[in-house]
Amino acid sequence: MRTKLIAGNWKMHGSLAGNLALLQSVAAGAATLPTLSFTVLIPFPYLPQAQALLANSACSWGAQDVSEAASGAYTGEVSAAMLREFGCQYVIVGHSERRQRHGESDARVAAKALAAIEGGLTPIVCVGETLAEREAGQTLAVVGRQLDAVIQGLGVQRLPHAVLAYEPIWAIGTGRSASAQQAQEVHAALRQRVSQSDLVVAAGIQILYGGSVKPSNALELMGLPDIDGALVGGASLNADDFLDIGRAAARA
Ligand code: PEP
Repeated sequence: MRTKLIAGNWKMHGSLAGNLALLQSVAAGAATLPTLSFTVLIPFPYLPQAQALLANSACSWGAQDVSEAASGAYTGEVSAAMLREFGCQYVIVGHSERRQRHGESDARVAAKALAAIEGGLTPIVCVGETLAEREAGQTLAVVGRQLDAVIQGLGVQRLPHAVLAYEPIWAIGTGRSASAQQAQEVHAALRQRVSQSDLVVAAGIQILYGGSVKPSNALELMGLPDIDGALVGGASLNADDFLDIGRAAARA
C-alpha cells in the first residue's frame, strides 16, 4: 500500500506575514490526517520560516527547484546541500514552468533529480504533455520520453528515492483538470514503463497527479488505482482547500 502524498506548490506566492496562518493551519490539519504525508514546496526565502514553524509537525517542506551542481559559479542557483541545511525534504524538479520558461531539457531535469537524491532530498519529478501534444495523440510518447530520461539518469535503483508527478500542462492553473480516465491512463502507463526496468520499484513508486486539483475533484482523482497523491498549485494557497484535498485523499 503506497502512502498518499499531498504536496502544495506555492509557486512564486507568499509573504512572511501571510505565510504564518497558512503554515500553522496546514500543520494543524495535517496532524489530523495521519495516514497521509503532507509537504509544502515554497519559495527559497521562506524556508527558514517554514523550518521554524513546521519543525516536528505533520507537514514537511521543500523547494521548487535545485541546481544540478554541488557548488560553484552558478549565479542564482541553489544546491541540494543548501536546501538540506534548511530542513527541506522534497524538491520539485522539471515543473513545466521551468521546462518551458527556462528551457530545462529532459537530461537537465534528470541531472537535477540525481543531485537532489545525492544531496539527501526527494525530488518530485514532473512530466506532462502540452495540449497540442495530447491532441496529436502523443501524450504517452512524451511522458514516456521524459520518464526514460529520469530512469536513465538516476538508474532504476535510485528511483525509489524519487516521486513522480504527472502534470498535463493544459491542466495547470487552468481550472480544467484531466478526467479520471485520462489521468489513470497516463499514471498506469508510467508505472508500466517503470516496471520494464524493475517490477518492485514500479509497485512502490508514488505517482502524484497535478493540474487543477481542488476539493471538488479530489475524491475521484485520488481514488484511482495508480494515483498516489496530488501536486496542488492554486488550491494549496488556501489552507481549507488544501486540507480538504487531503481529507478527500484519506477517504478515497
Ligand atoms: C502546479 O503548479 O503544479 C499545479 C498543478 O497548479 P494548479 O493546481 O493550480 O493547476
